Amino acid sequence: MSALPSRLDHYGDAALVAANAANPLKLAMFESSVAERPRAGAVGLPKPAPGFRRLNNTAELQEELQEASRRFETATPEEIIAWGVERYAPYLTMATAFGPEGCVILSMLAKVAPETYVFNLDTGYQFQETLDLRDSIADKYGIEVDLLAPELPVNEYEAVHGGPLYRTNPNQCCFDRKIKTLQRASEVMHAWMSGIRRDQSADRAQAAVVGWDKKFGLVKISPLANWTKKDVWKRITDEGIPYNPLHDQGYPSVGCWPCTRAVAAGETDERAGRWSGMKKTECGLHSISEQDGSGI
Ligand code: SF4
Repeated sequence: MSALPSRLDHYGDAALVAANAANPLKLAMFESSVAERPRAGAVGLPKPAPGFRRLNNTAELQEELQEASRRFETATPEEIIAWGVERYAPYLTMATAFGPEGCVILSMLAKVAPETYVFNLDTGYQFQETLDLRDSIADKYGIEVDLLAPELPVNEYEAVHGGPLYRTNPNQCCFDRKIKTLQRASEVMHAWMSGIRRDQSADRAQAAVVGWDKKFGLVKISPLANWTKKDVWKRITDEGIPYNPLHDQGYPSVGCWPCTRAVAAGETDERAGRWSGMKKTECGLHSISEQDGSGI
């Protein structure tokens, strides 16, 4: 049974706009209430110091990353994170969708470098459970994950496209609401961390522990690349790390609610519930290859 989205200040807005479209007075009132509503948790990107320059993927950097990646094949995630902090802070960031892996890395960051700027790609289509988890993480670790929003709120985005794009063109929707937001963040950063594991999918199996992310022009650090799902859940259980309650309701992987379903008993692919029924398997953030544009 699929959990219903309860964050009506996103999707509900779009539905109400459509329902009220025939009544300009009501619509105008509604739009102003949207504009005035504060967005709890939204801080905005940090400003880099004067003279900040983005990294170039030079031969020297490539060599350094390859050497580090080889060395870190047997390192602990904490050692990898500590290296990332030492090498790239304050221009090291982390993007999290509050999956189990992200929560584990947040618990590690709390010990190593709690001041790290961490953000969530707040597409406007996240489950309420996911957004609530942001608060649990803040309470437990003191890390306030920033909610980084796309250019247009959901109601305006859907109005521009004549309805929800996730139904007709999810690649474009992910590009506009996730990739572009990360691109914005990448302009003030040198490196980003992600919680991907190699055993999650064929595409992710190729991930380096440390490497150059061509798509975003950043060094990409994946401290959990060599961990298994079991490793992640053992750490969560051992340390009482907060996690998304949807994982206990048949959702091994949680993304935006329109593109996520619970998996059936016997479905072994932990990402089977993401973009179910479509050719799409990734939002494009972690794609190594982009055949047919399906990487976005
Ligand atoms: Fe849009 Fe679905 Fe991608 Fe979220 S996961 S950005 S709703 S297509």
